[in-house]
Amino acid sequence: MSARGTTHVAVVGAGWSGLAAAVALLDAGLRVSLIDAAPQVGGRARRVTLALGDRSYALDNGQHLLVGAYREYIALAQRVGVPRAKRMIMLAEVVETAIIAI
Ligand SMILES: Cc1cc2nc3c(=O)[nH]c(=O)nc-3n(C[C@H](O)[C@H](O)[C@H](O)COP(=O)(O)OP(=O)(O)OC[C@H]3O[C@@H](n4cnc5c(N)ncnc54)[C@H](O)[C@@H]3O)c2cc1C
Repeated sequence: MSARGTTHVAVVGAGWSGLAAAVALLDAGLRVSLIDAAPQVGGRARRVTLALGDRSYALDNGQHLLVGAYREYIALAQRVGVPRAKRMIMLAEVVETAIIAI
């Protein structure tokens, strides 16, 4: 184990759990590499684009319904700067914002 600030942690899985772990590790002053086998981040909760004719729509896939009892989720959304009005319905947006924060 090296000194705080020089410890480099690999987090495997860039879904909601991995993102939360990565943000917590960064907050603790560690260096983080976030690794995922998939071509995109977000795991089961991510934004997908649906093309219909000449129009496309951004849809949330997975975890679109959140309740106030999800205190850890709300704290993380706050931590990465998701506007209050969007916290309860747009997890994919939280994932994108967390990635930018990392
Ligand atoms: C259609 C749908 C609707 C849902 N609706 C809700 C809802 O309304 N409310 C709610 O609370 N929850 C809902 N869920 C559940 C919620 O989306 C999941 O519980 C949550 O996203 C899980 O996050 P996670 O990070 O634990 O796991 P995951 O999102 O599964 O992330 C795991 C990540 O690890 C990666 N990975 C796995 N193995 C490896 C490996 N060996 N090497 C590298 N990478 C690896 C995967 O590619 C993935 O990106 C829904 C899920 C679906 C699919």
